[in-house]
Amino acid sequence: MFDSDTLLLNPDEHFMREALRQARKAASLNEVPIGAVIVHEGQIIGRAWNQVETLKDATAHAEMLALTQAESALGDWRLADCDLYVTKEPCPMCAGAIVHCRVKRVIFGCPDVKGGAAGGFWNLLQAPNLNHRCEISSGVLGEECVMVLKEFFAEARRRRQEGQEHQKGSAAPSVIEAASIFDGP
Ligand SMILES: [Zn+2]
Repeated sequence: MFDSDTLLLNPDEHFMREALRQARKAASLNEVPIGAVIVHEGQIIGRAWNQVETLKDATAHAEMLALTQAESALGDWRLADCDLYVTKEPCPMCAGAIVHCRVKRVIFGCPDVKGGAAGGFWNLLQAPNLNHRCEISSGVLGEECVMVLKEFFAEARRRRQEGQEHQKGSAAPSVIEAASIFDGP
């Protein structure tokens, strides 16, 4: 099936597939594989993968980088007519930024019951005391999104067990411990 077909049949899956491509790019660069895209009037105006290790910047989550791109593309910090797709439920930092940018709808793949801020643990995207609330859709290609994370952490754990954890570019132990939420029961 061509991309244009999925865009017509299921736009949420279509754009989540692009977010997954971004996540896989992150994995190939030894970053925790999370990807995000921002869509305005059917066009992608921001796309990014998590780059915390690459940029040595704890704020360089995929959503944050995609938001900045989208703001630049529109020449406006208000993203009121934009939808944000992300492979994993946003953390509190990203959820705060998403509310500040007034994103219309947030679509995520897999939930994060320990640290998610879109209903998993908190729900900052729909907090009654904030001046903007987002629509939320969850579970879009959720299994594929969680598998990308699980495979990445399984590989990181395997390398760690082999005593290669100090090699340049390998995932830090703290990252691997954080992965436990994706291991299932
Ligand atoms: Zn985040």
